[in-house]
Amino acid sequence: MPELPEVEHLRRSLDPVIVGATVRGVRVVRRDVVHATAPSRTAAQRQTALLVGERLARTSRRGKQLAIEAESGMTLVIQLGMTGSVTIERGRPPSGMDGKHRHVVWELDLADGRSRVRMAFRDPRRFGGITTYPSRAHLDQAWESLGPDGLGLTATELSEGLRGRKRPGKSALLDQSVVAGVGNIYADESLFASAIHPQTQAGALSTHQIGRLAAEIRRILNHAADAGGSTLRDYRDAFGNPGGAVQLHMVYGRGGEPCLRCGTTLLGLRLQGRATVCCPRCQDLSTGRAGSRSRRRS
Ligand SMILES: [Zn+2]
Repeated sequence: MPELPEVEHLRRSLDPVIVGATVRGVRVVRRDVVHATAPSRTAAQRQTALLVGERLARTSRRGKQLAIEAESGMTLVIQLGMTGSVTIERGRPPSGMDGKHRHVVWELDLADGRSRVRMAFRDPRRFGGITTYPSRAHLDQAWESLGPDGLGLTATELSEGLRGRKRPGKSALLDQSVVAGVGNIYADESLFASAIHPQTQAGALSTHQIGRLAAEIRRILNHAADAGGSTLRDYRDAFGNPGGAVQLHMVYGRGGEPCLRCGTTLLGLRLQGRATVCCPRCQDLSTGRAGSRSRRRS
C-alpha cells in the first residue's frame, strides 16, 4: 500500500509538470471513484469540480492524501488506496494492462503553451479515489481530522498524540489522527530504529523514547521519500518508475530472517490484524527504563 513517502515522491514528480498547466478536459470512466463534497448535478458542474477550465496553482500533501489546487481555490484530493497511481502520459494512450483501470484522465495544456499531456488516475482495486472540494478552506477543514504530517513530526506533537493511550505503540502510530501518513511499513521501521517494541503501551513511552521515535519517523520517511518510496506492491511515480526504498527496510517483510543489527531471528507477529516484524533483542518490551538494553546483553 502506498504510504507517505510514495505519495510525497509522486507529488514531487507531478508538481513541476502540472503546476501552471490548464485543464483542458477530463474523461471520467468510472464515476464511482469521484466523490464530490459540494453538489454537482449536471455534467458541466462535475467537470468544473474536476478543475476543467482551471489553471493549476499548487500541489500539497497531508499524510497519504495528495491535493491539487487550482488558482480559483477549487481543489481535488487523490487517495491512492492500495493500488492507485497517477501517471503523466504523452503521445498515444498506453495499451495492454497499463491502459486498463484508468478511471479518470485529465487533458492538460502545459505552462509552456505548446505541450499537451494527459494525467491519468489508475486504480485496479479501487480502494483509492478522488474527492473534490469547492475551496481550499473546505479541504483544510477536512484535514483537521488528520494528525500532524509524519514528514515534519515533532516530539511535542507525537507526545500529545500518544498521551494516555493504552493501546500498543504500533497501533497508535497507524492511527491517522495521531500521525498522518505512517502506515505498516514505516511504523515497523521507525519502532525498530527507536529500539521500541511494537507492543509497548503508547501512553507508557518515556519522553526520551518519544523524542527518539519522532526523530526516527521523520528521518525514515524523509529518506524513503527522497529514495522514491517503496518498490513493494504497485508503486510507480508519475513517469511509471518504481520506487527504490525497499533496500532501506530493516525489519518490514523480514520475519524469520536475522536482525541486520544483532543477528537474532526477527519475530513476525500480528498486532490488531496487521503483520508486524520486530527484533526481540533490539526492541525492548520493558519500556522506558534507561539501560535496559545493555542489562539484557550482560
Ligand atoms: Zn536485533
